[in-house]
Amino acid sequence: MFDTLQDRLASVFKGLRSKGRLTEADIDATMREIRIALLEADVNLGVVKEFVTAVKTRALEAELSKALNPSQQVIKIVNEELVAILGGEARPIRFAKKPPTVIMLAGLQGAGKTTLAGKLARWLKSEKHTPLLVAADLQRPNAVQQLQIVGERAGVHVYAPEPGNGVGDPIEVARGSIAHAEAKLYDVVIVDTAGRLGVDAELMQQAADIKAAVTPHETLFVVDAMIGQDAVNTAKAFDEGVGVDGVVLTKLDGDARGGAALSIARVLGKPIMFASNGEALADFDMFHPDRMASRILGMGDVLTLIEQAEKTFDAEQSRAAAEKLMSRNQFGLQDFLSQMQQLRKMGPMSKILGMLPGAGQFKQAINEIDEREIDRIEAIIFSMTPKERDDVAILNGSRRARIARGAGVEVSDVNKLVNRFVEARKMMESMAGGRFPGMGGMPGM
Ligand code: GDP
Repeated sequence: MFDTLQDRLASVFKGLRSKGRLTEADIDATMREIRIALLEADVNLGVVKEFVTAVKTRALEAELSKALNPSQQVIKIVNEELVAILGGEARPIRFAKKPPTVIMLAGLQGAGKTTLAGKLARWLKSEKHTPLLVAADLQRPNAVQQLQIVGERAGVHVYAPEPGNGVGDPIEVARGSIAHAEAKLYDVVIVDTAGRLGVDAELMQQAADIKAAVTPHETLFVVDAMIGQDAVNTAKAFDEGVGVDGVVLTKLDGDARGGAALSIARVLGKPIMFASNGEALADFDMFHPDRMASRILGMGDVLTLIEQAEKTFDAEQSRAAAEKLMSRNQFGLQDFLSQMQQLRKMGPMSKILGMLPGAGQFKQAINEIDEREIDRIEAIIFSMTPKERDDVAILNGSRRARIARGAGVEVSDVNKLVNRFVEARKMMESMAGGRFPGMGGMPGM
């Protein structure tokens, strides 16, 4: 998502870079281009107008400040206004003083509610909460079962009507779940509700009735970011019919133009609280307007990357690896292997690298990264003995041939890996001390 917008904005900024100072005409021309870029990305017209006016006013005033060059000034202003449009600050869940905190999910069918319920539960669990999932979508065949599967994957209990008791009443189920959570000391209750293909009165009524029955602390409107401007209209309908506290955007990994995602917080006047960017339960995070703006402006999303690294990397192991690296030649392929395996836990390499600043320029190369190549590297290291992993200097011809056979690769592949490792280790030694956890040991990556 946002690829085209990223490219367009990058070329607008590139055009500015050559200019010594900006005239009002330059600023006008730039604003015209930004306006077109946003409209093409499907951003709501009202939001575009407001955005462009704000940036222009500030850009004209900023001419007085000489600390930054013109293109830096414009990028800074665009960034700040983009953050504002996206809602300013991240908005965390407001937990109830007296548990359980009740979170109700509402939205159209296919928006990703059930998947999201699992993602949210998993995330809450990682934040040391004890969530309970509630199956109050009794309309769609298999909805209960789908939630049970998701719950199992997330390792979270699902409260559902007893099988064999007929269809059941979603309002009763929702009400019953609160009593259950109180009795069993769950501290967050996530209520999944039924969606329809389109907005209709009956659907709204059911959502409103469930809401009245459980008085949620947070009613989250879940919306598929790929559906474009309809997302904004549906959000408005739900806000009028049910009342929502925040928005969850799903399918941000899609290739739609994404403008709706950029308009929804401003048009609705409600914060985007979470974003979902893939089918796996881990593809989910709090929504940070500033990080999203950085990503759109091609400044990367280093903060998210660091956070994920901190969650994934074993601090103790990384520190030991960094120390070995600093004492010459101690860092072996075994250390490299464990660091690489930890890195891979963060997700596919293309996704990780995509968060780095300037990643947009290397999009193609990143998309072409072959995970199988990394599998091959692992296979080669796996067929070495611990001694060989520790000291690649002992790898003579016959050892290399044995390793190649074991890994099912050519001897030249083994040579390539060993040479690259030795080269990379030299380079890492010269800049040893790794700036952030785990990243110290990434030779060759
Ligand atoms: P519900 O009808 O609102 O409960 O929607 P579901 O949770 O059943 O999701 C509908 C489809 O969207 C499923 O195939 C999900 O796997 C998929 N889905 C949900 N969230 C995401 C996401 O963030 N990215 C992608 N690519 N697919 C998603």
